[in-house]
Amino acid sequence: MIGHLPTFQKLIRQLQRVPYLASKNVYKVAHYLLKQDDNAIAQLCNTIIEAKQNIRHCERCFNFTEGAALCTFCESPKRIKTIMCVVETWHDLHAIENAGEFHGVYHILGGALSPLEGIGAHQLTIQALLHRLENENITEIIFATNPTPEGEATASYISSKINPAILIISRLASGVPIGGALEYMDRLTISKALLGRRPF
Ligand SMILES: [Zn+2]
Repeated sequence: MIGHLPTFQKLIRQLQRVPYLASKNVYKVAHYLLKQDDNAIAQLCNTIIEAKQNIRHCERCFNFTEGAALCTFCESPKRIKTIMCVVETWHDLHAIENAGEFHGVYHILGGALSPLEGIGAHQLTIQALLHRLENENITEIIFATNPTPEGEATASYISSKINPAILIISRLASGVPIGGALEYMDRLTISKALLGRRPF
């Protein structure tokens, strides 16, 4: 028992709401925070508030952007605007970007279809994606959704809404383990999967 420490317990409860903070580490993080001086804590809190206020989603691809409506990929003249890579999350975008093999633009879905979790097409950015395909000069779409049943179902659902006569539709090649998450894969695996992409 940690005794009568109501605000400490409140802090623990708040930290426990943060995904990826393992339960054992929550106490270490709380302890670390309490040992910092007031200025350091104020700076940390202000930085979180500032980031939350300044960073928003790109109006086109839903990547993060700061100070502009469009993200750096959508703005960059160096990116090939005719090839679009569709990913589930921002983490997946980064995994692919770090592999250094893809030079097109992205579209972040915000997750994958999962009826059991109540995630349908309207919870994702599928409508915005279809809108982009109508209005941008996209000639190839690469599905880099995760090789999970949800990721596969999402790619199938979207491709069923696309006219294959006007688009090359492909899927990341093998090498991506079944059920594996893109964000945990090494650069070489992702590069190979991109280069060896197969028709959908
Ligand atoms: Zn963008």
